[in-house]
Amino acid sequence: MRLSRYFLPVLKETPSEAQIVSHRLMLRAGMIRQEAAGIYAWLPLGFRVLQKIEQIVREEMNRAGAIEMLMPTLQPSELWKETGRYDAYGPEMLRITDRHDREMLYGPTNEDMITDIFRAYVKSYKALPLNLYHTQWKFRDEVRPRFGVMRGREFLMKDAYSFDIDEAAARRSYNRMYVAYLRTFSRMGLKTIPMRAETGPIGGDLSHEFIVLADTGESGVFCHKDLLDMPIPGEDVDFDGDLEPIVRQRTALYAATEDVHDQARFEAEVPAEKRMAARGIEVGQVFYFGTKYSVPMKATVTGPDGKEVPIHGGSYGVGVSRLVGAIIEASHDDNGIIWPEPVAPFDVAVINLKSGDAKTDAACEELYAKLSKAGCDVLYDDRDDRPGAKFATMDLIGIPWQVVVGPRGLEKGMLEVKNRATGVKEELSLEAVLNRFAAKP
Ligand code: ATP
Ligand code: MG
Repeated sequence: MRLSRYFLPVLKETPSEAQIVSHRLMLRAGMIRQEAAGIYAWLPLGFRVLQKIEQIVREEMNRAGAIEMLMPTLQPSELWKETGRYDAYGPEMLRITDRHDREMLYGPTNEDMITDIFRAYVKSYKALPLNLYHTQWKFRDEVRPRFGVMRGREFLMKDAYSFDIDEAAARRSYNRMYVAYLRTFSRMGLKTIPMRAETGPIGGDLSHEFIVLADTGESGVFCHKDLLDMPIPGEDVDFDGDLEPIVRQRTALYAATEDVHDQARFEAEVPAEKRMAARGIEVGQVFYFGTKYSVPMKATVTGPDGKEVPIHGGSYGVGVSRLVGAIIEASHDDNGIIWPEPVAPFDVAVINLKSGDAKTDAACEELYAKLSKAGCDVLYDDRDDRPGAKFATMDLIGIPWQVVVGPRGLEKGMLEVKNRATGVKEELSLEAVLNRFAAKP
């Protein structure tokens, strides 16, 4: 992408309405624009990151055996009346009446709808276990939308739903999602801790929230420090095998959100030097809720013994749009965002220090063409602007690598490569730069 042809409306001024760094940086970097309270347009740079995150979530869901589909944003009220949630959900639900006076709602979550889909088609235990998911916009009319995309009213969520014959099987489905989440967040460069959590309006009796530690986080959390350094299961983890040991290794150590925190237990179980009380951002949550929806909605299957039983369910959410903000909270400096490579909007920035200079232009063009051809996502700053301004923009938008091309370096046949995260600079020939980045997977 040539920056001269791109749409990157960076702001010089720090927006005064933004209270936390991720919100400020997303506005300054031209990633989002507020359209109404808690409702954002995703500008091209922000949309790229959102898609990268969505894709990582998708790959890990698929790896864990979940099956992707897509449910609508608008839902009929009838399903929610069946489960009793139409009244229970309260003013957070955006209710809409269509031209035929039918009550509709903009979905805040999809347990009711997926259970309806399930009961329409699945009649036998032989189809289980089943896990269906989608990534779709949700609406919750939050009292206090704030912190940009972190607490929006319209936000993108991945939500998966598992169906099993009994509690033991549902527990295995829960473990698969738990392990998938460990992998998902780690692939985004995040350290998350699963914490015992309250089940809230989703209901049920077993739940973990995946928390990114950050001073600006909205949740108070308490845990054993060793949880920060637990190994993350590799790509070869067997989702058909027994995942209980991986889950137990973590759940054996105290970790709880403030809603369920028990100070006496915390002090009894965790030695003083290992106690951590902090704040964090919830980026995902897993629930086992048993027959909470299957009983009222009569979602039953015939078991091996021919008897009809209500299925045991779980639901598993990831805040895809919230993650964009959470990653920035975890990875930035005074100059701007520092994207972890797997979620970066572009892999490499090429900075032309002297646009209009024939040799410099030619070297940049060659680099841009060859890297792009090799599958590397390049943002080429070909504009006629001061070098200082160009450096500042690239630092602000956080591209992991910057290749600086100028007449002085070219005289020696050299380009400068800067790593955004470490600030380390290297002099490399054009060939060496091509080898380094074109060889990237
Ligand atoms: P919170 O406690 O932050 O209000 P929640 O527990 O109500 O969230 P869930 O129902 O667990 O949310 O939804 C799954 C995920 O969706 C959450 O873990 C979070 O990452 C994300 N999410 C929830 N509400 C919002 C929101 N208002 N804006 C952005 N992301 C959200
Ligand atoms: Mg939650």
